[in-house]
Amino acid sequence: TSGINFDKFDHIAVKVTGENPPKPIVSFDTAGLRKYVLDNITKSGYKKPTPIQKHAIPIIMNGRDLMGCAQTGSGKTATFLLPIINILLQEPKELIVTNTCAQPQVIIISPTRELTLQIFNEARKFAYGSILKIAVAYGGTAVRYQGDNISKGCHILVATPGRLIDFVNRRRVSFESTRFVVLDEADRMLDLGFMPDVEKVMEHSTMVQSGERQTLMFSATFPEDIQQLAGRFLKDYLFVAVGIVGG
Ligand code: ADP
Ligand code: MG
Repeated sequence: TSGINFDKFDHIAVKVTGENPPKPIVSFDTAGLRKYVLDNITKSGYKKPTPIQKHAIPIIMNGRDLMGCAQTGSGKTATFLLPIINILLQEPKELIVTNTCAQPQVIIISPTRELTLQIFNEARKFAYGSILKIAVAYGGTAVRYQGDNISKGCHILVATPGRLIDFVNRRRVSFESTRFVVLDEADRMLDLGFMPDVEKVMEHSTMVQSGERQTLMFSATFPEDIQQLAGRFLKDYLFVAVGIVGG
């Protein structure tokens, strides 16, 4: 929301660790994003990138795995959505549905229905007017409508872990074409006991597609158990921490 004072983030220290990090961007128009995406950024009222966006957008654009830690409200959603949408539009791949089983190219996992809907709505906003199809799946509501919608095919699926596994078991979703896996709010996912479901997703997508998948993890804190998960799920990754990251 435009009421947030993003300038307050400018003075926060940023730590980047890992091999060969790309240079941070100073503005959205120097990020190498297509005009289409830039126009949707402008329409969203974003004037300049937040610190996590400055450092992490070029990392994702460069095809690297990422562990991004930054406080709530610091713009982590756009950090992964903008480069992913840009890459999907840059290298369009056919939308695949086999026997009503969709093969999304992007799986975004988030711990709650509310956060899942927020990400879904941001994704629709940034992809507005493009060919990209975005679907959503969360629990506490009938499977039918969500399932019918997913079965039409989607480039991006935003889901809570339990409902995602449910759709995988019902053969409505498979990971054969998945190029990106995003784990948002990893620390909350852990606290809520969702890691077994997340691990199932990671196993599925690793078995099918080990070499090409790009995995991005985000968290507000970086405790020991999240560090371990990052080590297991990510390969040759860069770690970006904005401010003091509790652990
Ligand atoms: P986080 O996931 O880090 O908690 P969000 O991605 O939900 O934060 O962003 C918080 C709010 O800030 C959202 O309303 C989002 O639209 C807005 N926002 C994100 N990046 C920018 C930016 N560069 N300029 C202005 N507003 C932004
Ligand atoms: Mg968030």
